[in-house]
Amino acid sequence: MTDCLFCKIVAKEIPAEIVHETGRTLAFRDINPQAPTHVLVVPKQHHPDAAALARADDGLADDVLKTAHAVAVQEGVAEGGYRVVFNTGPGAGQTVFHVHAHVLGGRPLTWPPG
Ligand code: 5GP
Ligand code: ZN
Repeated sequence: MTDCLFCKIVAKEIPAEIVHETGRTLAFRDINPQAPTHVLVVPKQHHPDAAALARADDGLADDVLKTAHAVAVQEGVAEGGYRVVFNTGPGAGQTVFHVHAHVLGGRPLTWPPG
């Protein structure tokens, strides 16, 4: 997608602090972190949201989840607990329509979320 912010980050046309990369996924720090660890995990292939990612049906959703956990281990938050969030649709607060998992940790996370 030519006009997608996260496609541009994947293409390295826009800089980001990349913390993990696989053949099919990229993880980079959120520009406006909501926790000490706040990393976004995206598939390199463009899918607008989690529903579309689920429909991709080629193991890509699995790759994104595996990368999210690898990031949590790398960031040192896996043992204490972390949260993986897919805001899906405007009503849930999604603002960038290239699917991304938020990996949040490093502070107590309350429930329910806002
Ligand atoms: P959403 O609201 O769609 O669930 O999450 C989008 C996230 O992308 C937000 O947490 C926002 O801070 C982050 N974000 C927006 N623009 C940029 C950017 O240019 N670079 C990075 N690293 N994060 C961004
Ligand atoms: Zn995209």
